[in-house]
Amino acid sequence: MSRLELANLLFPEVDYEKMSIESLLAKYPERNQNVCDRIAPSPTGYFHFGNLFTALVNWKYARQNDGIFYLRVEDTDQLRKVDDAVDVLLASLDKFWLNIDEWPEIGGEYWPYFQSERREIYLVFIKYLVSQGLAYPCWMSAAEIESIRSLQTEKKLIPGIYGEFSKYRNFTPDQLAQTYHSAGDTFEVIRFRSPADLTHKITFNDEIRGEISMIDNYNDIVILKKDGLPTYHLAHIVDDTLMRTSLVMRGEEWLTSVPLHIQLFKSFGLKVPAYAHVAPICKLDQGKKRKLSKRHDPEANVAFFFQKWYQTQALIEYIMTLADSSFEDRRKDHVESDLSEFHFELSKMSVSWSLFDQQKLDRIANSHLSQVSTEELYNQTLDRARIYHPDYAKLLQNHPDYAKFAINIERFTPKDPKRYTTYADVMAQTINFFDEIFISGEVRQSIVELINSTFSAEMLDSLQLFISDYSANFNLENDTEVRFNQLKEIWWKYGFAANNAQFKEGGYVGKVWDLAMFLRIKLLNSKQTPDLFSMMKVMGRERVISRLMFYS
Ligand code: GLU
Repeated sequence: MSRLELANLLFPEVDYEKMSIESLLAKYPERNQNVCDRIAPSPTGYFHFGNLFTALVNWKYARQNDGIFYLRVEDTDQLRKVDDAVDVLLASLDKFWLNIDEWPEIGGEYWPYFQSERREIYLVFIKYLVSQGLAYPCWMSAAEIESIRSLQTEKKLIPGIYGEFSKYRNFTPDQLAQTYHSAGDTFEVIRFRSPADLTHKITFNDEIRGEISMIDNYNDIVILKKDGLPTYHLAHIVDDTLMRTSLVMRGEEWLTSVPLHIQLFKSFGLKVPAYAHVAPICKLDQGKKRKLSKRHDPEANVAFFFQKWYQTQALIEYIMTLADSSFEDRRKDHVESDLSEFHFELSKMSVSWSLFDQQKLDRIANSHLSQVSTEELYNQTLDRARIYHPDYAKLLQNHPDYAKFAINIERFTPKDPKRYTTYADVMAQTINFFDEIFISGEVRQSIVELINSTFSAEMLDSLQLFISDYSANFNLENDTEVRFNQLKEIWWKYGFAANNAQFKEGGYVGKVWDLAMFLRIKLLNSKQTPDLFSMMKVMGRERVISRLMFYS
């Protein structure tokens, strides 16, 4: 039996008259653009921050080279598939303005964009390898593979299914056909016959890391699984060839597979695309770097940033600092420039693991929100509230002016403290301005708890006396100085010191700091509020009095 006959026996459904590698290459011709890159996530219902990072750099690279950026859904792992995962993917890309050039609804000639719909195509390629003796069926059981592994460990041999350890590698086509029949006309998997031995080295180029030398692939890896779908390795070769990807930019975890991928491309006589392997984003954990993890880090899931409603532009700017360490400095000199004006070079990307720096992200986010208009802050907060707090959304909608006054306290002033990092902060810091929310039992309970945990019973007595006096006499119309003096007179009367130094002299029940804290908690159920007088002014006299007089 010839190799071709064996291939026909194993893959009778693949008819080269109808579909062959040549006809596929003709159907999906070379692109007109020099650059074409993509992201190829698995639809797990979870968009990892690392995916976002890779997507952003691919998108940026394609855009700055007038190239194509597309999405391919790698859904061959049927077990991990999640129903709305593709919606999550598309919504995430959309949210970050990472527009794709091709998709069923958008158009594009290089379809299908779902791997699960490309099965026929993969089989054409796999059958070809079998017909050339470059791949072969295998019936090794999990137990057999395990016993090989134990033997290799015991004898200190290099682990893997290669050479003599691959039971069917050197079977003749007749022997393979016989085994196929005796197994009931079926096979377990198809393995690639690696052309390299254990000693062979290979050198290739990585656009980020430069020249890399490593040991060549010697394993006969599985290219077609039992479920009839290919493994990532084979699918990558087929898809990136037919979809005419010029640059494969993907996670660093694939770097060690490059030798195998090059072997596969060459076994078909196909051109190898350029590769770029992106270092993962990581965290410091007990002094050691580890990858951002789905299990330990909420920010590993991009949904975390949506939920907090980070401003998209700020996040993008932050990710750019991760992608290119020179970006931050360049940005400082061109604050007004559009991101598209910043050239980004693969060779400048970090090869070491970059740290996810929440503080830096927040600093960037903070400064971005301090420049956003009140209208935008209001609208975005309203959009967010519609999802997370519909009652608050209604209040915002019914009292836009009051909401905007509350939002705006201290903003656009020389001492702008940049109150907000995310739109979730805007909500958290303004929601209690509304009586409808403030009078709820939950808020009252929290006020009582805050007060009791902050002040001693003794001090509370003095604070209460102060509050009754102050409520009866404060005047919001006066200017700052008069208001302050008035407050001072009252605090003095009830035994509060103006500052630490005075307090240390002795004879005082507390400090002005305690008074201010007491007012903040009573007025807004928080120890941190913007400027007291400003917020009292926004709330208005009656509301202030009723809040000050409330006590458990
Ligand atoms: N599905 C692979 C992954 O998510 C894609 C890698 C690639 O971009 O080729 O890691």
